[in-house]
Amino acid sequence: MNSMQVTRWMQECSATIAEQKDYLTQLDAAIGDADHGSNMTRGFAAVETKLAELDGGVPPGKLLVAAGQTLVSTVGGASGPLWGTALRRAGRSLGDSETVEPAQLADALAAAVAGVVELGAAQPGDKTMVDALQPAVDAFRGQVDGGGDLAAALSAATAAAEQGMRATVPMLARKGRASYLGERSIGHQDPGATSAALIVAALERSLSDEP
Ligand code: ADP
Ligand code: MG
Repeated sequence: MNSMQVTRWMQECSATIAEQKDYLTQLDAAIGDADHGSNMTRGFAAVETKLAELDGGVPPGKLLVAAGQTLVSTVGGASGPLWGTALRRAGRSLGDSETVEPAQLADALAAAVAGVVELGAAQPGDKTMVDALQPAVDAFRGQVDGGGDLAAALSAATAAAEQGMRATVPMLARKGRASYLGERSIGHQDPGATSAALIVAALERSLSDEP
């Protein structure tokens, strides 16, 4: 992964989230406060603008740190600080490397989820973005450790994120606004797990194209 691909990832996130804005908002209307689509759309549009202002010499890790800072400062909801932390931690893990090998990317993704868990204290099964992200990161790592190539790791991650997203439907929410609903949160797909799956799928698309 190089800087151009990170920029493309953030552009893909911005496009896919804007496209799914109403859907994400509907999911949040059912178990939250109906702002997840607009929160994420506003945040990633700002990230896209921010990265477009930076010149081509900025390494991948620095781009992700800038993206994370932008999310924190533009998104008021829970998802802003959580995704901001995720991207900043991923960026810090990459340091100043010009190009990122799959094993480094696995470490960066693991650092991102660890940051989300540290900040939000959600465990797998609590019906949050962690339920999509943790399986995705584990699947990516499993492929890389098993000698799979980047394409195999990315596709395993995307599949695991989508499966994790769907698995949130029967869960009882234990974190975030949805937890206020108790039993009534059961039967609804978590909005944050849904946008997380979109972000993982966007990573696969942006790294599958030639650099
Ligand atoms: P808010 O809940 O402040 O309105 P959003 O609607 O943008 O923020 O985001 C809601 C999503 O954030 C939830 O669907 C859930 O996936 C995620 N979330 C909320 N709290 C936590 C937490 N403590 N840890 C991880 N994810 C969380
Ligand atoms: Mg909300």
